[in-house]
Amino acid sequence: MIVKEQLIKAFEFPRHLIRNHVGPGECRFHGNYSGKLECRLCGSATECQWLAHHDEFSSLADKPTAEVATALEFAVDFIESTVVAEGHDSDNCPCESCKWLRDSRTMLDDYNGDFADLLTLKS
Ligand SMILES: [Zn+2]
Ligand SMILES: [Zn+2]
Repeated sequence: MIVKEQLIKAFEFPRHLIRNHVGPGECRFHGNYSGKLECRLCGSATECQWLAHHDEFSSLADKPTAEVATALEFAVDFIESTVVAEGHDSDNCPCESCKWLRDSRTMLDDYNGDFADLLTLKS
């Protein structure tokens, strides 16, 4: 069973990378967001908005687990596209990004598996 705290902990790594990706050049907020702010100005608007909603102060713990999982999936896609662009083999590569990817995919699979079990039990 995957608990929300495990998912939330996984945000630390992509948060850092996405912040580097967004700022400080392009974004007029320089990667410094105030909670509810949504950036539609910079070239990395999707990542920028993700940061705005999922930074250290966004109290992920108060959000529904499904929402946290979806947000983590976005981070997985983001990190995946960066390692693919750099030519990593994310199934075997020992670097921090690929390690994070493998861990997070496993965690999301487990979470989705738990969810499927729940649905089966209900029907
Ligand atoms: Zn921005
Ligand atoms: Zn790698």
